[in-house]
Amino acid sequence: MKIETKSCVVTGKKDVAVINQQIDYQGQGTLVKITRGGICGSDLHYYEHGQVGDFKVREAMILGHEVVGVVEQSDTPRLKPGQKVALNPSKPCKTCKYCLSGDENQCTTMKFFGSAMYFPHINGAFTGYKIVDSDQCIAYDNQVSDQLMVFAEPLAVAIHAVNQAGDINGKKVFVSGVGPIGSLIVAAAKAKGAAEIVCADLSERCLSLAKSMGADTTIDAANGDFSSYQEQKGYFDVSFDASGHHTSIRRCLEVTRARGTLVQVGMGGAVPDFPMMMLIAKEISWVGSFRFTEEFATAVEWLANKVIDPMPLLSAEYPQDQFTTALDFALDKSKASKVQLVF
Ligand code: ZN
Repeated sequence: MKIETKSCVVTGKKDVAVINQQIDYQGQGTLVKITRGGICGSDLHYYEHGQVGDFKVREAMILGHEVVGVVEQSDTPRLKPGQKVALNPSKPCKTCKYCLSGDENQCTTMKFFGSAMYFPHINGAFTGYKIVDSDQCIAYDNQVSDQLMVFAEPLAVAIHAVNQAGDINGKKVFVSGVGPIGSLIVAAAKAKGAAEIVCADLSERCLSLAKSMGADTTIDAANGDFSSYQEQKGYFDVSFDASGHHTSIRRCLEVTRARGTLVQVGMGGAVPDFPMMMLIAKEISWVGSFRFTEEFATAVEWLANKVIDPMPLLSAEYPQDQFTTALDFALDKSKASKVQLVF
């Protein structure tokens, strides 16, 4: 069955378009009518720079990996036509050593929506219709709004980051950098029982959002006074660097107590004069966090059951045809947190 679809593609730096495409559903997997999508930092990176890290866009690639939709047809009776689904953008191989041990986010041949890591590139889901593996479809109650459920993917990233810190119940937590992911980490840490959450950021707007997501205290990253948090080798049991900037990593190391944990979520470049001795002498565990595994299903469940409310983070929504306008608005960090596209 041939289906006409309109897709939001990037072909290079500042080169995006909405184009007509045709897909062919032959009864395998699930055909999903996409209803809504959230623009993520990596989509913006492809738009602004034509690449993410070393992965350069070399052919037209559909962007987008935070999407929800409605089942049109499926190869499994579990997914009836009309059922709302959140799409897990991860497609692990299920046969490599990491997949077999449950660490699918470390799959050696992961096919993640909207990624130029491989050639041909893995298309994303900012498109009218998409064929996906049926197990990438997480059904949710049709009463729950799409606007809300589009947060499932970034929330999964945040829950995974919190899980990387171990049991966070009763702990004192610091989050450095409260863009959408940092703020969702605040919400996830609170949901998992953190005793106190302090956030730092350069943007007053982001700090006030972090507060509405559950932060107890917010501090201006540039001019705030952190001295009390540095006393006695540090105050926080767990820090999250969601900024990736070297000054933020240094700050996290300064305020994390000896034998505490620093979870690295933000992606950044080099760290000049890396404070190696602080890491060693305070015996801090510095843990990376990348994407998610079963946390995607947890995120869908949390959103459906209102465990957390991400709506303060939604800054704007645009129809699909205004893709470029939406990207430009999302790039303006003085105004935008999460921007959604409506299909
Ligand atoms: Zn694998």
